[in-house]
Amino acid sequence: MTDVLTPEQRKYNMSRIRGKNTSPEIKLRKLLFANGIRGYRVHYNLLGKPDIVFTKKKIVIFVDGCYWHRCPICFREPETRKEFWIKKIESNVERDKKINKQLHNEGWLVIRFWEHEVKKESEKVIKQIMKKLL
Ligand SMILES: [Zn+2]
Repeated sequence: MTDVLTPEQRKYNMSRIRGKNTSPEIKLRKLLFANGIRGYRVHYNLLGKPDIVFTKKKIVIFVDGCYWHRCPICFREPETRKEFWIKKIESNVERDKKINKQLHNEGWLVIRFWEHEVKKESEKVIKQIMKKLL
């Protein structure tokens, strides 16, 4: 059988197999910890399964995979089974919007970061979170 997955797709499949604790999420948790930020929950049962939830402050944080959520900077169209993957990615993006709206309506402040921001611009990410927590 030929291998038809791009590296991103393979990584996604692997992360689904491993379940939670994918790497940008862990990186973000380490960042929070290193900056003395506590009092958040992970795997908190809330719409959209946010990566980090500050229950008292009513703040949720998502880390969106650049490929699966169509990051404007990193996203490249898939080379194989294009229609299939694009459709999937577009439905992710639509779902993100609905989740944002719904959580907002329920009084949550929703913060989303791109995977590449958590990986490469961690200082900016932490600053943004700290500002919201004050
Ligand atoms: Zn990106």
